[in-house]
Amino acid sequence: MAVDIASTDLLDKYARHAGLDAVEQLRQLAGLLNGMKVVHVNSTRRGGGVAEILEKLVPLMQELGIDASWEVIEGNEDFFACTKAFHNGLQGKTVHIPDSLLRVYEEVNRVNSERLRPALETADIVFVHDPQPAPLLQNCGACGAKWIWRCHIDVSHPCRPIWKYLRQFINPYDASIFSLDAFAQPMPHTVYLIPPSIDPLSEKNLPLPARRVLETKTEFGIDPQRPMILQVSRFDRFKDPLGVIEAYQLAKRFVPSLQLVLAGGGAVDDPEGETVLSEVRDAAAGDPDIHVLASGHYTDRTINALQTGADIVLQKSLREGFGLTVTEAMWKSKPVIGGNTGGIRLQLVNHRTGFLVDTPEGAALRIRYLLFNRPRIKQIGENAKEMVRQNFLITRHLREYLTVMVALIHGNEDRIELG
Ligand code: UDP
Repeated sequence: MAVDIASTDLLDKYARHAGLDAVEQLRQLAGLLNGMKVVHVNSTRRGGGVAEILEKLVPLMQELGIDASWEVIEGNEDFFACTKAFHNGLQGKTVHIPDSLLRVYEEVNRVNSERLRPALETADIVFVHDPQPAPLLQNCGACGAKWIWRCHIDVSHPCRPIWKYLRQFINPYDASIFSLDAFAQPMPHTVYLIPPSIDPLSEKNLPLPARRVLETKTEFGIDPQRPMILQVSRFDRFKDPLGVIEAYQLAKRFVPSLQLVLAGGGAVDDPEGETVLSEVRDAAAGDPDIHVLASGHYTDRTINALQTGADIVLQKSLREGFGLTVTEAMWKSKPVIGGNTGGIRLQLVNHRTGFLVDTPEGAALRIRYLLFNRPRIKQIGENAKEMVRQNFLITRHLREYLTVMVALIHGNEDRIELG
């Protein structure tokens, strides 16, 4: 296919990873939205998955000819205490939020509405991310823009009073977007399902030189000459690190040189995490080939190097949201052995792009099988990478946002000419 001479730097870079077709599709859809003013609003410029994705999506939209911008609401300590409680409540914890905090939430949103009014009232489309800025529509929604509530968390089993309270702000939106069917709530408007994605240009996912991978292994005392399996996860029961150790121990009977790395970052801020970590340390005690990396903050590049340097990646979750660690490993052409749950099932097509397992024994069998069948490691790794290229890169995420935008802006027309 001919390279488009009108392509820009950023789009070119993505074309190199995602393919020219992916960028071409973006251009085609964006052609129907040319010059539209799109405003994204969330509650933080830095930190967390939402900020990470907006950092890339907004410039990409701009390069596609959309007048995109990103606004951040400002809040005080009480506001964030309240929205943190929303977050916990929406994810199923029982929380009681005093009325006084709810009034702060509404007042902070009212003040932000005044500040953001010029941007919001001249927009064609507003994306509001998560619950923090949800009430903005109430104050700035009178000027005809289409408003989309983009929910990044699992609200399938919320604490009822919290959801009931928040729903009054969200119901009037023109559409909602959830990440997975299993995360969603029924709404009085159209609900779109758009899975998460990874950014191939991020530090965590860019290809690394072999030298850097070797340095990282050496730094953590991992023998680069011997096979290594890896799980990158918070120390959480649902990630089943003890099941991973059991699978490793079973497989090691057949592959005595095997090493296991469990990388889970530092700051474990929930008491359960501390308990799980100490159980993991006990289970690993006495085996120098189990490396529990749980001290300090590991940079994205270190996580990248571990994923790149692994022979096989495990994500033996018992319950999982989407499972970004699976996507990240697949993108590095690794065969992933994952728990048969949640979004892992969307990514691992059993025996083709990876393996789904229900037990440590099942995981051990697959580890053994793969280590004795190196060509399968390569083949499944290649399939895995292609699966991510087609389905789980940020370019696909953007394509689906553009599709929702086209549907909302042009949905009532008799005829829409695509391309
Ligand atoms: N992660 C990390 N360092 C760690 C553990 C996890 O950077 O020590 C990253 C991991 O690479 C992934 C994200 O945190 O990008 C975890 O997302 P996932 O969907 O796998 O699980 P969650 O923690 O959201 O349940």
